Amino acid sequence: MIQAPRGASDILPEDEAHWTFVESVAAEVSHLYGYRRIETPVFEDTGLFTRGVGEETDIVQKEMYTFQDRGGNSLTLRPEGTAPVCRAYLEHGMQNLPQPVKLFYLSSLYRYERPQAGRYRAFHQFGFEAIGEADPALDAEVIDMSWQFYRKLGIGALHLVLNSIGCKVCRPAYLAKLRDYFQNCQGGLCQDCKGRLERNPLRLLDCKNEACQGLAAGAPRSVDHLCPECSAHFEQLKRHLSSLELPFEINNCLVRGLDYYTRTVFEVQPEIEGSQSTVGGGGRYDYLIEELGGKPTPALGFATGMERIVDNLKKQNVAVPPVPPARVYVAWLGEPAAESALQLAARLRLEGIPALQGLGGKSLKAQLRQANSLGARYAVIIGEEELKTGLLPFRDMTNSEQHLVHLPELLEAVRSGK
Ligand code: AMP
Repeated sequence: MIQAPRGASDILPEDEAHWTFVESVAAEVSHLYGYRRIETPVFEDTGLFTRGVGEETDIVQKEMYTFQDRGGNSLTLRPEGTAPVCRAYLEHGMQNLPQPVKLFYLSSLYRYERPQAGRYRAFHQFGFEAIGEADPALDAEVIDMSWQFYRKLGIGALHLVLNSIGCKVCRPAYLAKLRDYFQNCQGGLCQDCKGRLERNPLRLLDCKNEACQGLAAGAPRSVDHLCPECSAHFEQLKRHLSSLELPFEINNCLVRGLDYYTRTVFEVQPEIEGSQSTVGGGGRYDYLIEELGGKPTPALGFATGMERIVDNLKKQNVAVPPVPPARVYVAWLGEPAAESALQLAARLRLEGIPALQGLGGKSLKAQLRQANSLGARYAVIIGEEELKTGLLPFRDMTNSEQHLVHLPELLEAVRSGK
């Protein structure tokens, strides 16, 4: 039997209520903050990610699903949502719209990672991007939006963690300091970090290895090396967050896995599980649009994993609105009634009433058993006699009480939920 590939899973009907709830809250919160939906293609030119996300990142080095199509083009399944949204922003001339342009997406992503709890190779994110504005008030608004999203979902026990990693002006000198520091303690670093030291020293700060974490705690801090502009931006942002009463914490080791981040980086982490199971993260990426061929355009965004949200909703026993069950099951007896059952079920649906019909000529008993197991509140039974009289046996499945009704009464009863 062929099974789903490793790290890819099905979203089953039993999870529909949770997924629909998360998607609807995502859209609701997005609209509250002035975002409109965008969906980009599942695959893009590989160059978008090598240029946008960064050659040295784990995503580009190890995790992309890259293939050649039949025309010889190198394409990559979308491993993250920001670069495609920026590509679309440029391609559709959105720089000519009032700025910032605010876009949200609910997309599937693909990364060749080592599958484990909460980490998949095919997964989904709710993400949003605000492009074309440098004001730290926008950083505060984006952070507030991500926080309010989890609040509206009813997920608690979360931390909001913040850092600033500077810009083109101040970061090179900071990276040199960081490299010097880690070079002096090379012996204590894990193999991965030894490799990263030259290429991407920032990533040494968020290595999960215990020894590396100990060394990272004593490393030079980016916030102490910010240029005056980055420093002013960060101070203003913290003031805004305090005035919004957001409970943020500064973590000087917080960096993000993608190269394009500048200044603000932030994550939402569960209180218990540590940063391995971060539920969402984001930050500023003031050079990405330029990197992709546009004019200098400041921007920032946030993305959160849908699977991890669903998991948290379940763990925290958050009640979600149920999927409406079938309301009426139309059972029938004898071939002449089959057509009437088909028509009655169609009529009920036209009236906005979820309806199912008996199929395959099952016995009445089997049909009623099925109505029960499908959770139908009512059953109506059509036989030859009913065709003649127009009086239909109408059964309340909760107590098996049954009486005869004409169609208008049936519609009335079903609608009023009696
Ligand atoms: P990132 O795009 O890596 O910044 O991740 C943002 C969020 O997406 C994370 O906080 C997770 O909630 C989710 N996420 C990232 N990678 C995965 C994965 N492999 N499987 C499931 N969720 C993921």
